[in-house]
Amino acid sequence: MARKNDTLCLHLEEDEGDCRFFGAVSFPIFQTATYSHPALGQSTGFDYSRLQNPTREHLEKIVAQLEGGIDAFAVSSGMAAVALLTEIFQPGDEIIADSDLYGGSIRLFDNVLKNKGVKVCYTECYKSDFKHLITPKTKAVYIETPTNPMMNVTDIAKTAETAHNHNLLLVVDNTFLSPYFQNPLKLGADVVIHSGTKFLSGHNDTLAGFIVTNRADIQEKLRFFIKTTGSGLAPFDSWLVERGIKTLAVRMDKAQSNAFKIAQWLENQPKVRRVIYPGLPNHPGYEIMKRQARGFGSMITFEVENKALVEQILGKVRLIKFAESLGGVETLITYPTTQTHADVPEETRLKNGITDCVLRLSVGIENAEDLIEELQNVIS
Ligand SMILES: *Cc1c(COP(=O)(O)O)cnc(C)c1O
Repeated sequence: MARKNDTLCLHLEEDEGDCRFFGAVSFPIFQTATYSHPALGQSTGFDYSRLQNPTREHLEKIVAQLEGGIDAFAVSSGMAAVALLTEIFQPGDEIIADSDLYGGSIRLFDNVLKNKGVKVCYTECYKSDFKHLITPKTKAVYIETPTNPMMNVTDIAKTAETAHNHNLLLVVDNTFLSPYFQNPLKLGADVVIHSGTKFLSGHNDTLAGFIVTNRADIQEKLRFFIKTTGSGLAPFDSWLVERGIKTLAVRMDKAQSNAFKIAQWLENQPKVRRVIYPGLPNHPGYEIMKRQARGFGSMITFEVENKALVEQILGKVRLIKFAESLGGVETLITYPTTQTHADVPEETRLKNGITDCVLRLSVGIENAEDLIEELQNVIS
């Protein structure tokens, strides 16, 4: 019988029964840059750590297994993963992207990728509304679901079908749900991106990024680019992320249960104008989420009545940290306007609904009552 998702967070199937490395239960950190060879023309399988390192390879196999891909690539950050993926595009190519994306991805597309001659056209992909942008030059559709920070939900299977009918790749940034809750490749996507800094490592202590694919042609290109450009994740950081993934299932279950309680509590606060959490049945993406994911995650976006209240909340929180990032065990509150989305043009930001009264919570694994008590203190 196939191993279940929570088991796969801890064990690589191919390792079962294996007692390599003195039976070490925690896969060792191979802190080495290079590898000696027994003789000319022979190799242990490893030559130089820019190409591959055993600890990084082990982590990559775990992530590939969790996402259902043929291969995964561990790199130094989520943005390094997005940047690495853009290497597969050529000058003249076009990409259709969701207009509500992580701010760093938009910055990369609009400043770096554009200079390479690759054009990114933005639209609201969650409305399945992108066919009019397809030209003979279009090569890929790039989405997040749910989006950061407005939590728009895109039907992955439907988007994959449209993309494939036009010979386009579908790339899904799956950071917000992690492979524990959602597997885009199994729904038809060709490439999955993760900021491993977030839920996968889970402890707000390391940066990492992943690309996972089930396409052999993309796998081959990316192996070549990693070897050539050198953004592969370091051995110690690979070990930290692997260690984090062991508790992915328990962390996400607990964080999600906290998020439900907090979202419901926020909905009843007179000074909170709007609560956007895809686990609430009033969320427009609720039914799609139920179909394509196994959970709703622990990210909540909410809008308060005025900017003064935003300032009050951010100045008063103590247990909850006012910080960028998400997906860790500690609860964080983020202000997209000046943090994650500061470099997104104001017009786009406001069009997407990211007003200066919008806050984003990444709910951690503290006791929900303590979190609600703190929110009560800072919002009232
Ligand atoms: C954080 C984030 C990234 C970028 O990852 P880093 O590890 O910070 O470089 C990309 N996509 C999403 C959805 C993110 O939340």
